Amino acid sequence: MSITYVSTRDKNNTATASQAVLQGLAKDGGLYVPTAVPALDVPLSDLSQMDYRQIAYEVMKLFLTDYTEEELKGCIAAAYDDKFDTPEIAELKEADGAYYLELFHGRTIAFKDMALSILPHLMITAARKNAIKDDIVILTATSGDTGKAALAGFADVAGTKIIVFYPKDGVSDIQKRQMVTQKGDNTFVVGIDGNFDQAQTGVKQMFNDAALNEAMSRAGYRFSSANSINIGRLVPQIVYYVASYARLLKDGKITDGQAINITVPTGNFGNILAAYYAKEMGLPVHKLICASNENKVLFDFFSSGTYDKNRDFILTSSPSMDILISSNLERLIYRICGNDDKKNAELMGALSAGGKYEISDSMKQGLSDFYGGFATEEETSAEIARLFDQTGYIIDTHTAVASAVYGKYRKDTGDDTPTVIASTASPYKFTRSVMRAIGKDDANKSDLELTDDLCAVSGVAIPPAIDEIKNAPVRHTTTCAVDEMQDTVKNFLGI
Ligand SMILES: *Cc1c(COP(=O)(O)O)cnc(C)c1O
Repeated sequence: MSITYVSTRDKNNTATASQAVLQGLAKDGGLYVPTAVPALDVPLSDLSQMDYRQIAYEVMKLFLTDYTEEELKGCIAAAYDDKFDTPEIAELKEADGAYYLELFHGRTIAFKDMALSILPHLMITAARKNAIKDDIVILTATSGDTGKAALAGFADVAGTKIIVFYPKDGVSDIQKRQMVTQKGDNTFVVGIDGNFDQAQTGVKQMFNDAALNEAMSRAGYRFSSANSINIGRLVPQIVYYVASYARLLKDGKITDGQAINITVPTGNFGNILAAYYAKEMGLPVHKLICASNENKVLFDFFSSGTYDKNRDFILTSSPSMDILISSNLERLIYRICGNDDKKNAELMGALSAGGKYEISDSMKQGLSDFYGGFATEEETSAEIARLFDQTGYIIDTHTAVASAVYGKYRKDTGDDTPTVIASTASPYKFTRSVMRAIGKDDANKSDLELTDDLCAVSGVAIPPAIDEIKNAPVRHTTTCAVDEMQDTVKNFLGI
């Protein structure tokens, strides 16, 4: 069955899967959603016998219906290969009765590699299918991890350029080093004097700027987005939830059809939305536990039905979740208002005008699949120490937010459904915070030097990504003010 995508703000704005992958954001500012979420058409017991690539094909073929089998399998094979340091691609580790789904075995040791290693292949295939001759310019705002993962995915891919904006003072040392040392003649990295939301707003404005788009087109360029609003990001993220279920079944940890919970440390709402889609496809999932850090807009939304970004922006030890506008939530809003594009457009209009909207009681019913929670900085750090002391398993700050919220959920509800916790970054990506949490910080050492200490106490091998940046030269030094973002892009492209 072929799937059509429609914009969440205007249903008449439709696209095929490959067109949606190319375009990223719809022209009206909405996000592309499938008219219906397709059902898994392979029995769970069959999935439990498949490897990651096979499962990826079974899931993605249902969403990306205008890609041929050969094209899709080609993209999957090019993405999920020995770039990952484990043949499992995503590993499942049991600790203290929960299952940590390690999504950080790719090139940049964070979960965004899962989608960004396949997106360039999906995009190039899409361009070829749609007879596009323009070079694709990837424009991305990042709170840290997306930027590097996108850079790594697109570097030196013919026919593409990639420009990444990050908040100059809002990412970790290691995140910054990873980005400013990026190789590839088609890569551009810019630090802005502002926070992630300002970077994201600036990028969105450029996507919607008619004059800029025209100038681009004259010069043989067209924008596309690698941000988590692109369905080419979202669809590959559904795969690992299905794969984690298949793995639990294979290992005899659950029985066929038994429900699991999924806990996700959430920022832009992309990763947890993928888990929601997995549930909608028919994967047996009980609760989707949405974990926030002290920027707890989503927790407040799930408790009150009011989304309100008018509050202080807090810099936390889980910077990739320091977000006040969770863009992908729009896809859930659209769905729970009964796929009503007008209603959704009205709510999103209120969000951009006043930073706030409130959903109706009937829409609140649609949130019953979710449990919202948050963890403070102290709780996050205590959770890292607790798990490490009790089990020897070491987790990063983002995963710790999820793990702490899962602990609160169990206390609150007494629910002992087997639970998968998305582990979104390697502890080596946030070494300082992790070492501080377990009382082994050394203020005299740099973050990179500390990685040797982390290795010694945890016994977890230092990933190649860390070794790589230790000696790499800085290649990107551009910075700009928020209102100079567009000029910076024009400058890079020579338009
Ligand atoms: C991006 C990111 C998140 C948040 O994921 P969303 O899809 O934005 O909700 C959580 N943890 C890490 C390490 C990330 O990089």
